Amino acid sequence: MTEGLRAIHHFIDGASHAGDDGRQGDVFDPNIGAVQARVGLGAQAQLDRAVAGALAAQPAWAATNPQRRARVMFAFKALVEKNMEELARLLSSEHGKVIADSKGDIQRGLEVIEFACGIPHMLKGEYTQGAGPGIDVYSLRQPLGVVAGITPFNFPAMIPMWMFGPAIACGNAFILKPSERDPSVPVRLAELAKEAGLPDGILQVVHGDKAMVDAILDHPEIRAVSFVGSSDIAHYVYQRGAVAGKRVQAMGGAKNHGIIMPDADLDQAVSDIMGAAYGSAGERCMALPVVVPVGEKTAGALRERLLTAIAGLKIGVSTDADAHYGPVVTAQHKAKIENYIQMGVDEGAELVVDGRGFSLQGHEDGYFVGPTLFDRVTPEMRTYKEEIFGPVLQMVRAQSFEEALALPSKHSYGNGVALFTRDGHAAREFVGRVNVGMVGINVPIPVPVAYHSFGGWKRSGFGDINQYGMEGVRFYTKTKVVTQRWPEGAASGDSAFIIPTMG
Ligand code: NAD
Repeated sequence: MTEGLRAIHHFIDGASHAGDDGRQGDVFDPNIGAVQARVGLGAQAQLDRAVAGALAAQPAWAATNPQRRARVMFAFKALVEKNMEELARLLSSEHGKVIADSKGDIQRGLEVIEFACGIPHMLKGEYTQGAGPGIDVYSLRQPLGVVAGITPFNFPAMIPMWMFGPAIACGNAFILKPSERDPSVPVRLAELAKEAGLPDGILQVVHGDKAMVDAILDHPEIRAVSFVGSSDIAHYVYQRGAVAGKRVQAMGGAKNHGIIMPDADLDQAVSDIMGAAYGSAGERCMALPVVVPVGEKTAGALRERLLTAIAGLKIGVSTDADAHYGPVVTAQHKAKIENYIQMGVDEGAELVVDGRGFSLQGHEDGYFVGPTLFDRVTPEMRTYKEEIFGPVLQMVRAQSFEEALALPSKHSYGNGVALFTRDGHAAREFVGRVNVGMVGINVPIPVPVAYHSFGGWKRSGFGDINQYGMEGVRFYTKTKVVTQRWPEGAASGDSAFIIPTMG
């Protein structure tokens, strides 16, 4: 029964474009568990059209002075702020996160746009006068041309902006392939960018699944691909893009640990962990799904407080202002989370709070999962090793600082980690030794601010360069280094057959 549903189209050369591929994907409203729209799933033909438009538009955009490019970023930021309410509602209706959280999703993306407003300063190169007799050397950063971004469902506003903000400000044209599960907000962002003065063709949105991703990875005119999603696909994208000679950064999944030292402020830590474990129904790559109390006394006190806090959680539809979190994204994802809960029971963890079978009155078909708590989870368990990506908190008891430090360090994922303590020496030791890319000290979700950069280690990130900040500017530009000499009078005509030295 999907006749007459809203259709979500590609956005190419400044206009909505239905595409002629014929394949379509369902976009659900997870609050009610029904299809609310259909998205056209494109492939090679749509991509070719988008790349052709991008190639035609990019040289003039790159030649536009950086201050003018920055002005488009300023105007875009103002327009997104003006449309915040509408964007947040649209985002929540497809993703399921509560409206306040959708606003956070948009806001964290906008902060990268804010950073991109400073692009004239960041593109300034380096200059050495007198590197040799009469010789000056300077370097400049030039855009790559046409670049692409492939994004996950869980931050449909923030992650596209992480990518296209710096890429476009640097003078590239950007092809965005958003998640086919919540594709409406990315299209709205592209429409607002056009309204802000971005020339047609500089931000193209193409929808699709694997077929579109493969077409992007193989396209000879796309110079770089930024990917965020699950680890197996990140690894695949990294390999296939590299084989095609592209620059690739591919961020993957996560299993972040929150370590509670015996001297931590327990009330603060519990409050932080509740938000980080259950906020957005656990569908965040920087969620804290594993809590590690150090010592049995800490474990007992933590468990007691967590139980009280969980009892106070309110699960509701995404428009419910009092709800702490809403439904998960699809029925399939809900089933996957519930399977993991059963697996945890089967492999011997203690299920303290079971979120399966949760039903919200009046929304019985919505994809809700109740808060779940496991205790006595051990590192050999599959449910510990794998990413669940739901409202499931696992407690792994450690007996010492060293044992706790080893857990995130040895885990195959290495996105984020948090340590809760009052001991500065322990914190310093932890920061220096933990084998994870982003660290919070008494900060539960250490997503770095826009002028630093974001990137996990191990299976959480393939490629050597982070998202946004100066790392983003480096990813979307190539360095040209010029060695110049302006000799007086005519050239001598002498050839040099050894490598020139400046000595
Ligand atoms: P996903 O890997 O299923 O999808 C990500 C993108 O890849 C989508 O655009 C999708 O269309 C595409 N895709 C899906 N299957 C593909 C295939 N077989 N071949 C090629 N492309 C394919 O991820 P998701 O479920 O949308 O997002 C959740 C995942 O993303 C979690 O693992 C989460 O940890 C991770 N994530 C990581 C970060 C980070 O910065 N490290 C941030 C957000 C989310």
